Amino acid sequence: MKDFEKAIEMMKKKNLFRTTRDFEQVDASRGQIGGREIVIFGSNDYLGLSSDPRIEDAAVKAIGKYGFGSTGSRLTSGSRDVFKELEDLISDVKDTQASLVFNTGYMANTGVISAVCDKDFEVFSDRYNHASIVDGIVLSGARTVRYRHCSMESLEKRLKESKSKKKLIVTDGVFSMDGDIAPLGDMSFLAKKYGAILMVDDAHGFGVLGQNGGGTCSHLGVSSKVDIQVGTLSKAVGGIGGYVSGDRDMIDYLMNSSRSFIFSTALPPLSACCAIKAINIIGSDSKGRKRLKELSDYMRGLLKEKGFDTGLSSGTPIIPIILGDEKKASLMGQKLMEDGIYMPAIRVPTVQKGQSRLRASLTALHTKEDVDNAVERISQRWKEINR
Ligand SMILES: *Cc1c(COP(=O)(O)O)cnc(C)c1O
Repeated sequence: MKDFEKAIEMMKKKNLFRTTRDFEQVDASRGQIGGREIVIFGSNDYLGLSSDPRIEDAAVKAIGKYGFGSTGSRLTSGSRDVFKELEDLISDVKDTQASLVFNTGYMANTGVISAVCDKDFEVFSDRYNHASIVDGIVLSGARTVRYRHCSMESLEKRLKESKSKKKLIVTDGVFSMDGDIAPLGDMSFLAKKYGAILMVDDAHGFGVLGQNGGGTCSHLGVSSKVDIQVGTLSKAVGGIGGYVSGDRDMIDYLMNSSRSFIFSTALPPLSACCAIKAINIIGSDSKGRKRLKELSDYMRGLLKEKGFDTGLSSGTPIIPIILGDEKKASLMGQKLMEDGIYMPAIRVPTVQKGQSRLRASLTALHTKEDVDNAVERISQRWKEINR
């Protein structure tokens, strides 16, 4: 039996022990804890759709029609017409032949990579890729070859050294801790040159970047050059679910071999109904996206003026404020909370040592005043801590 007490003690000693923070959430930018109002800079609900009244209406209609649960996996009793409708809609928006919906983005990544790759594969993975990609590679039994973050020099060197005939290159579209965008044009060139499959996890790009919110691939004009697009319905779409999108044959293959798709109960149909409504809103209304971009550029600018390092972030609503020291970053998170601002401190092991940071994520529901106030508080608290 593992000594849990000891393990917990170790975590606490390293300042790494965490507990949940239970918001009485109101919307993407504001919540309450114990009746106290908190401005939230840590939500993935970029467009505020998680609490959109139009989607609530869709949910009420859907529960009347379909009830709560789906009763089984998609290949048994769990499928409904709305899943197909949702998949067709995703394919439309992403300009691909077909799509398959999973229960979460995490399950999409683990399910897709483990079905596509086997032990004869080498998987070339950006050092900053999301944990669900890392876990998918482990599940597949393939060899992981990590390359330097967004470095095409490093990637090409690794590809050149490889003796494997089967290669997959996998990257986040928008990186979750740095808010920068993968150079997919160059990556597709290298994929072609070295005979590799190219896979993009666009969890943070879908709904935020590109014309009608299609994501990073459409933003960079490389949709036709990316073999596998994975994403989530739990960030800008505002609900829950994951998907993979690409050629029809690949999707049919995954439907028959992806274990996280086959061996798990399908989403409640009402989740699919809500996702359809949300994606339609995203496609028909670019105001939220535009506002989000303006607000993010504004906040990055203010922080830089105050002398903060916002790293590689550009053009996305994810803004790291790199502080370096673990303890100071933690303390900053706590102090801001006292000021009524939730902006999570991100530390080892999520980011490398010496790269500890606050991570701000913006939503279309934030106001300019929210941003002004947050930057002012950050600046003030940072001075206090370093006094
Ligand atoms: C959030 C995230 C996921 C997981 O998606 P869920 O739907 O929350 O499981 C996968 N990849 C990246 C890059 C993410 O940021």
